[in-house]
Amino acid sequence: MKDYYEILGVSKDADDEELKKAYRRLAIKYHPDRNQNDKEAEEKFKQINEAYSVLSDPKKRAQYDQFGTVDENGFSSDFGYASSFEDIFSNISSMFGDLFGDYGFADRRNRPQKGEDISINLTIDFKEAIFGSQKKIEIKRKKVCKRCGGTGAEKGGVEVCSYCRGTGEVVYSQGILSVRRTCPKCSGLGKIITKKCKECGGAGYVYEVEKIKVNIAQGIDSGNVIRVSGYGNPGLNGGPSGDLYIYVNVKEHEFFKRKDRDIYVKIPISVAQAALGTTIKVPTIWGEHELYIPPGTQSGTRFTIKHKGVELSGVRGNQYVEVDVKIPQNLTKKQKELLEEFAKESGEELNYKNSILDKFKNIFK
Ligand SMILES: [Zn+2]
Ligand SMILES: [Zn+2]
Repeated sequence: MKDYYEILGVSKDADDEELKKAYRRLAIKYHPDRNQNDKEAEEKFKQINEAYSVLSDPKKRAQYDQFGTVDENGFSSDFGYASSFEDIFSNISSMFGDLFGDYGFADRRNRPQKGEDISINLTIDFKEAIFGSQKKIEIKRKKVCKRCGGTGAEKGGVEVCSYCRGTGEVVYSQGILSVRRTCPKCSGLGKIITKKCKECGGAGYVYEVEKIKVNIAQGIDSGNVIRVSGYGNPGLNGGPSGDLYIYVNVKEHEFFKRKDRDIYVKIPISVAQAALGTTIKVPTIWGEHELYIPPGTQSGTRFTIKHKGVELSGVRGNQYVEVDVKIPQNLTKKQKELLEEFAKESGEELNYKNSILDKFKNIFK
């Protein structure tokens, strides 16, 4: 287990100010631009960043203190966590602003960079979610412009930047550090486009709509996210493409209600079925199932059909059946007579309007 406190060299009860100080000191010490080609320093730098990103966040810190780890969900969903080496730089810049400024940034411009992630929403049917499926979807993403090959310029339409002489950076002295900054004129590219590409208008990329097939895993649910690696926007300088994130929304079913792995249904039965008992056929997502209703079942009684729920990671939930006893309406003459007979047999006084009122009187006395 990594000891984040040890990595930052602070005590377990260090406050925010101490954390920040320690982090600042170490980040400068191990900054890759001061330790060129030093793998050990780079690793150290990453660890320092990881430690700080956890300990500086009260929620993550509490989780770490308690469990000695921070779960991945808490991590990746959080904006502050730097997942790649490249991200660390932007974190530092946003944290310390002027101290680092664009320190090391120009270098990064020409380093391979992963493309941006893209995300879409996808609505699928109830059944598709339960059994899984393959969906064809359309995504719109950036493609390197074919006309200019991503440079954004027409042929011969590029000049070396005169301000930085093509290096993409300018050097300033600032306190203890000699700070390199991205050239303000060419934004670190080292060159200036004089004639923009006619196809992409200088962007270097165009948007294209693409059809792709996506596998929907069995048991997926609303709120789940599918990650399709490499289907984001293209990377820079030969870096890999970003990823596609599909936010899943599952349509409701008119009959089945789902909660995690379990399925809930409401089945109407007649008064006679409830009173006498019966066996009814109940639909489940896996087909019909015979359910025994014992005599004297009350409306609202819930029965469990085991292992007829949603299968997820090899485990199946249950189906819960709530019976809804329907009181008959629009009785025939014969039915009325039979019910009256039934009441008499039960010793009921049918015309007891007055006796009900009497009961209420007693309640409110
Ligand atoms: Zn172009
Ligand atoms: Zn320049």
